[in-house]
Amino acid sequence: MARLLEQAAFPGLQLAKFILVIGAGVAGLSVAYEMLRRGREVMVIDRGPAGAESTWAGGGILAPLLPWDYPDTVTSLAFSAMQAWAEWVDKIEVHSGLQSEYWKCGMVALSVTNPGTALSWCEAKGVPASLSPSSDAAIWLPDIAQVRNPRLVKALRTAFLAAGGYLYESHGDFSLFSHARRVESVQIKNEAHAVEQLVLATGAWAGQPLLGVNAIPNIRPIRGQMLLYALAPGTLNSILYRQGLYIIPRQDGHVLVGSTLEDAGFDKTTDAETARYLHRSAAEMLPALTNSTPLRHWAGLRPGSPDNIPVIDRHPDFDNVFVNVGHYRYGLTMAPASAELLADLIEDKTPALDPTPYSWAAAQQRQWTDRL
Ligand SMILES: Cc1cc2nc3c(=O)[nH]c(=O)nc-3n(C[C@H](O)[C@H](O)[C@H](O)COP(=O)(O)OP(=O)(O)OC[C@H]3O[C@@H](n4cnc5c(N)ncnc54)[C@H](O)[C@@H]3O)c2cc1C
Repeated sequence: MARLLEQAAFPGLQLAKFILVIGAGVAGLSVAYEMLRRGREVMVIDRGPAGAESTWAGGGILAPLLPWDYPDTVTSLAFSAMQAWAEWVDKIEVHSGLQSEYWKCGMVALSVTNPGTALSWCEAKGVPASLSPSSDAAIWLPDIAQVRNPRLVKALRTAFLAAGGYLYESHGDFSLFSHARRVESVQIKNEAHAVEQLVLATGAWAGQPLLGVNAIPNIRPIRGQMLLYALAPGTLNSILYRQGLYIIPRQDGHVLVGSTLEDAGFDKTTDAETARYLHRSAAEMLPALTNSTPLRHWAGLRPGSPDNIPVIDRHPDFDNVFVNVGHYRYGLTMAPASAELLADLIEDKTPALDPTPYSWAAAQQRQWTDRL
């Protein structure tokens, strides 16, 4: 840690009272950064390197796929975040001095089942969209953006530290101490720190209890496999989407192909058959991929939730424990709005967005169906 903490009279207990965030993926870091900006002392703990799980593995498309397929609960949070993204990432880039390659590259959705209905939905919601000249079942969505997620995490982590945050990475060995419905302190590396509020942002692991804090309802890991290629820059300049699969171009010519939705527990292994399927399907959309060999093949674990609705609320067992989990396929997309919503709840302010659909009680009512 970069700063020396003041020693309290109580042996080993530090004076400053922290917002403690467990989990340094995009959900944890974005809340941590927001609370720092609101003038609070913030400490983040992760048992691995910051952002190395789902947040690293994701594609970085900043929109629901396809937005008209989702309930309003998903799109209202996502759209509120999408409106905030450009300004949010700009702030992070200025504070960190690092670029995250936010790029409003647009998306072509191919083979859309009911293009007329989709276009009417877009018009009603104020989402710019038009039929693509390439095919009458293709819709062009010019405002859809992407971010290079590993770079975003690097920038967010750096901005958080630059703003005075404390980060313990690769530290799975810590203890929480609670008393009368409050988590009072955390012990890590033989230091005890007083905790004002605790935020759980443990991604796909949030469905498991953590150090005596009960699990968040209905969260489970959903594996996604991805392929990475290198093409000449400019080969593809917008995202392509067809029937669940997408191709994302980066500005330097790298191209990501994804992804699968697999209910495989905490298993992050990849398999050759899936790689062949992703390659074949992607090459049908973008023939330039036909003779390319993937540079890399990986899998990540999304924090799955029924209907893709996250839980952003106070934990019912405690007065000072909050959760920001279960963003499933859209954790990068939803990050700025989720962080703001939770920060408002932590500070007892009325949030701009109605928090009811993201409450713990609402999450308890939702059940998984066969549809992942
Ligand atoms: C293949 C794939 C493609 C995706 N594509 C997109 C996309 O295009 N757009 C989009 O918006 N989203 C996408 N996503 C989803 C997005 O990546 C996730 O929703 C988001 O990253 C979740 O962030 P998180 O912080 O909740 O979880 P994570 O990034 O998984 O972070 C959770 C952190 O908690 C830590 N942790 C867990 N348990 C403990 C513990 N007990 N103690 C300490 N630390 C702990 C973990 O080490 C981890 O670092 C994709 C995901 C995948 C896998």
